[in-house]
Amino acid sequence: MTHNTRLLRQRIGPHVKLMAVVKANGYGHGDGAAAKAARAGGADAFAVASLAEAVGLRRQGLREPILVLGHLSLIDEVHACLRWRLLPTISTLDQARLFHTVASRSGACLPVHVNLDTGMARLGVPWREGVALIQAILHLDGLQVEGVYSHLAAADAVDPSLTQQQQQRFDHVVAALTNRQPARFCRHLANSAAAMADSSLHYDMVRVGLALYGHAPAEHLEGRLALRPAMAVRARVTILKTVPAGTGVSYDHRYHTKRPSRLAVVAIGYADGVPRLLSNHMGVLHRGRWLPQVGSITMDQLMVDATDDPQLHTGAVVTLLGHDGTASISPLQWSQACSTIPWDILCGFSSRLPRLRAARSTRHGGQLTIN
Ligand SMILES: *Cc1c(COP(=O)(O)O)cnc(C)c1O
Repeated sequence: MTHNTRLLRQRIGPHVKLMAVVKANGYGHGDGAAAKAARAGGADAFAVASLAEAVGLRRQGLREPILVLGHLSLIDEVHACLRWRLLPTISTLDQARLFHTVASRSGACLPVHVNLDTGMARLGVPWREGVALIQAILHLDGLQVEGVYSHLAAADAVDPSLTQQQQQRFDHVVAALTNRQPARFCRHLANSAAAMADSSLHYDMVRVGLALYGHAPAEHLEGRLALRPAMAVRARVTILKTVPAGTGVSYDHRYHTKRPSRLAVVAIGYADGVPRLLSNHMGVLHRGRWLPQVGSITMDQLMVDATDDPQLHTGAVVTLLGHDGTASISPLQWSQACSTIPWDILCGFSSRLPRLRAARSTRHGGQLTIN
């Protein structure tokens, strides 16, 4: 991750800040470890989705600015922002008034980032109302507009037209504000895809998630940066058995052996985050060789056809995701096999899977290693 963060840092240059997005437990990698690795590579700030995630980072000793991307609207949440020095996202006037009231009662002036909805139809103030909202907040002495941002709906698309439309709307609001109000605030728009694709989208800061974990957000962006996947998922073979041709394997016998076969039971399953939809559509690596997974993936175990790998022995570690010799399996491959996206695969790994540093990476059952 440190390596990937350095690459991004070089790409955006010294005048653009790098906000590392470590929501959803650092995209499944462990948020504290991910944040510290990103910091070592030059990240200036962090973003998370929820208050609990932000407080979790503070408790793990991270002192950099933390932006909460999700919508906070309770009095206790305002107090928590003040207490833990967190940057809330403001999308509505009601929310701004509440934050102002609570902050000014505490004698504080809380820095906030205003989110503009320029085409995502999710969080954020509709962009046509953005100038009015921000002008109103400028009159609330409990709040200080430190940042103005928006989120792109299709920055990873080959066709840039939606991104261009969102950028025009963003520029329109920012220009209207800087005409009337010279005060400087931090403008940010780019996610990983935008940060990799187009420097005109960088503004004062980029908010990068997926790329820091070593994955390009789209096939056409692969190779733009020499990213290295931070995560590998491995598990142990616990039992090997030889079965005759025609043997039904796992629940509902969704696979039958076509020949006398050597089956390996591997101690990882869908409860760890291996999508059950990959049943009969994935494989594992052992010493650089790809072995097909067979039958339904179960909650805690999956079966592999090891007939062609006589060297595979009980206790061997196989690779489900990541590198093994010159071979590798990526979250993109998994996501394509089960009609989802790499983000969904990464943050689907459960807390049962121990997160280990790559250096000491042998363990029983499944494991997720990070470098
Ligand atoms: C998750 C998220 C990001 C990071 O997106 P990546 O594509 O993973 O880089 C950036 N901004 C917002 C608002 C997000 O929710």
